[in-house]
Amino acid sequence: MSQKYHVIVIGAGSTGTATAHDLALRGLQLTVIERGEIASGTTGRNHCLLHSGGRYAVTDHEGAVECIDENLTLRQIMRDGLELNDGLFVAVDESDLAFKDTFLEGCASCGIPARDIPVKRALEIEPYLNPKILGAVQVPDGVFDPYRFCLSFLATAKKNGATVLPYHEVVGLLMSGQAVSGVKVLDHRTGKQYEIGADLVVNATGPWAGKIAAFANVDVPVLPTAGVMVSISKRLNQMVVNRLNKPHDGDIVVPQRMTSIIGTTSWKVDDMDAIHIPQEHVDKMIEFGEKMIPALRDNPIRGVMAVARPLIGKKSADEREVSRTFAGFDHAHDGVENFVTISGGKTTTARGMAEKISDIVCAKLGVSAPCRTREVVLESYRSYYNN
Ligand SMILES: Cc1cc2nc3c(=O)[nH]c(=O)nc-3n(C[C@H](O)[C@H](O)[C@H](O)COP(=O)(O)OP(=O)(O)OC[C@H]3O[C@@H](n4cnc5c(N)ncnc54)[C@H](O)[C@@H]3O)c2cc1C
Repeated sequence: MSQKYHVIVIGAGSTGTATAHDLALRGLQLTVIERGEIASGTTGRNHCLLHSGGRYAVTDHEGAVECIDENLTLRQIMRDGLELNDGLFVAVDESDLAFKDTFLEGCASCGIPARDIPVKRALEIEPYLNPKILGAVQVPDGVFDPYRFCLSFLATAKKNGATVLPYHEVVGLLMSGQAVSGVKVLDHRTGKQYEIGADLVVNATGPWAGKIAAFANVDVPVLPTAGVMVSISKRLNQMVVNRLNKPHDGDIVVPQRMTSIIGTTSWKVDDMDAIHIPQEHVDKMIEFGEKMIPALRDNPIRGVMAVARPLIGKKSADEREVSRTFAGFDHAHDGVENFVTISGGKTTTARGMAEKISDIVCAKLGVSAPCRTREVVLESYRSYYNN
């Protein structure tokens, strides 16, 4: 067996990297194990919306409150990797317009600063918007760069002693009786397998969490739910543009570098590594997206992608109705010690998710250091390569 750590974190998406940062700050020795490159799972291929919570203000109060709380915190601690350009919710028909008051009330009840702005003003800010829009509300949405987002957390974790093992796939959990005592990894660069010991293992593998949990014969209620995004090869909006209604297909356009990304759809998948993209989902993105920004249809598609959300829910639930919040699982409740899972949520809420699971980890390991991730300013993503 190679080195023994206090903690092994499996997965270097937004959840695993934020968790590594939190635990390293509390003084724990840890390593992060990732089967591919950093952020190569769901985190690296999402819309990149730094949620204000507006999308969930009417349908998911808890999820919306988490979003605005973490959005405001990230603005303080992440020096680079965020584009703080705000968002607009636009009414393209009478039904959207009728939703406006409900939306404004929902935002107020969740603490999301939302401003009803004149249509003329919205069109001045975003000239490519449909000139026939009937209303617009401005919220503090933003955009993150997912790779830099994760590198910032890891750079800070490395500064505090953590190590990172990319291209290492966990292919089994080591067991001492009914307790997890480490992992078996396959190093994809050498083809060799070896074992790494730890006092506790954190499963932060997003939609793959059920596969890792199955190594210990425990079940986690993760419902992998895919979504298609269409990237347009011109940046047509500077702010995030959302449809002013309950969340549905094709209702958001996020500016990302020199592109605009239209999203998304939602359907359950069994294999997160082989998601087939239905052409009708791509067509739907263009059809719905152009209602908000007509020029989306006139510009070439740069790429189409699909990834799975790690939603928490019952297997029979309707995926649009499952809460977008997160859950931490201490598998001692399933009869397996020294093993926890954190899943669900969003990239926007990664820090809060990390705080919750790190509190559980520290309680189990008898560590009393409190969480400090709300205050500690993160290292630049650039310093990941220097530490
Ligand atoms: C279509 C879509 C759009 C979204 N848009 C947004 C958005 O705009 N804003 C937002 O905040 N959230 C968004 N989300 C949600 C967000 O992307 C996810 O909640 C978040 O990325 C989950 O991060 P994670 O770290 O838990 O999972 P992941 O990013 O999937 O990380 C898990 C990691 O575990 C690794 N792994 C898996 N198995 C193993 C193994 N055996 N050994 C080692 N490593 C392993 C994977 O390679 C992966 O890197 C979106 C989700 C979807 C599906």
